[in-house]
Amino acid sequence: MNLFGHNGQWLMVDCGVTFDEPLDPKDAASGGRRFDVVSADPTFITQQPENLVGIVITHAHEDHIGALPYLWSRLKCPVYTTPYTAEILRRKLSRDGKQPNIPIIEVANNGMADIGHFNIKWMSITHSLPEPHALLIRTEAGTIFHTADWKIDSAPVTEQPFNQREFKQLGEQNILAMVCDSTNALRAGHSVSESACYSGLKQLISHAQGRVVVGCFSSNIARLITLAKIAAETGRYLALLGRSLLNTVGAAKATGHWPEDLIIIDAHHAGYLLPEEVLAVATGSQGEPRAALANLARDSYRDLSLDKGDLVIFSSIIIPGNEKPIENLVKALNARQIDTVMSEQTQLTIHASGHPCQEELKQMYQWVCPQVAVPTHGEDAHMLSNAQIAKSAQVPRTLTGKNGDLFMLAPNIGIRKSAVKTGRIPLNH
Ligand SMILES: [Zn+2]
Ligand SMILES: [Zn+2]
Repeated sequence: MNLFGHNGQWLMVDCGVTFDEPLDPKDAASGGRRFDVVSADPTFITQQPENLVGIVITHAHEDHIGALPYLWSRLKCPVYTTPYTAEILRRKLSRDGKQPNIPIIEVANNGMADIGHFNIKWMSITHSLPEPHALLIRTEAGTIFHTADWKIDSAPVTEQPFNQREFKQLGEQNILAMVCDSTNALRAGHSVSESACYSGLKQLISHAQGRVVVGCFSSNIARLITLAKIAAETGRYLALLGRSLLNTVGAAKATGHWPEDLIIIDAHHAGYLLPEEVLAVATGSQGEPRAALANLARDSYRDLSLDKGDLVIFSSIIIPGNEKPIENLVKALNARQIDTVMSEQTQLTIHASGHPCQEELKQMYQWVCPQVAVPTHGEDAHMLSNAQIAKSAQVPRTLTGKNGDLFMLAPNIGIRKSAVKTGRIPLNH
């Protein structure tokens, strides 16, 4: 949840959640009370909703969109986003029965909108789901390039490859500030392309004798397309196990992101197939106790039972904090002699991160040449590393701060510490 202010107006960019977290991040290790769904405390802006001119959602990941159904009644302003993200949002709203009347203004991919004193240009970028966008936020006081989540992917499977030219051109536009994703700023080198997962997954799946179940993030439509192709090539049928997978693929189909020739069978039929004909994708790669993988491990999934010799592939990473539930899930599978492969254990590429590593960050700073770098998205160490990279790329100023700090960009550059009282709030279903 970022707020950009100019001339008495505020623009919100993204409105996300985190799951199963305490309200104070410092309590994460100490076993303090956790809440299912947690968002940033929006009190600063909900006390002055008349000054909020719009909410822009850059892409459909939960950490960018998830709080909107809960908080919109306190914000009450138009939401601007592109078709796939809008489709995901509409599905969320109709499922939860919350605020069906949120005014969603659909902007074309690479489109533009005037929102109050802000002119917004959506810039297609590459990440790990359909329609990821960076933003160019233009005001009379200057132009901000907000990267949102991104990587440089020359073969992203869905949509167009990363378009260098667009970002190089920003170097001639006198960009005042670049607000930039820090998630992988501690990792050297360059991220792996999404398309590189094909050969690793194909190798594992084509050598498997029994059923194969792949755990992956349900938002990663490119990974699902890769798996659907591999199913067709290896004589297997692809089934989706878990509500969130059906939801994202439904949204991808509705907005033209799912190739029509790739068949998905009804999960009810998967149990009737020969084991060597089954390729299922399942939710729950982070060990979530109610998701499909956990039910498969307990043999309590209605549509499918796994047996000795079947294979579960984790086409995902262990998100820090989820080590224990994932370990328990793997143990439960292995106890039933179901084989498991995790991306951390194999030399094969079976997962690709959606965030930029150090070389990509440096490259982007060199192209865009902003006057100021403002690292976001990550913990302190990630943001500090991102700032170091900006400096090494000759960005004159870097601003790193904490939630609630005000970053002043014009006419003078500086930080007003703790300008806004903020924190975390639990959201209730
Ligand atoms: Zn994100
Ligand atoms: Zn994302």
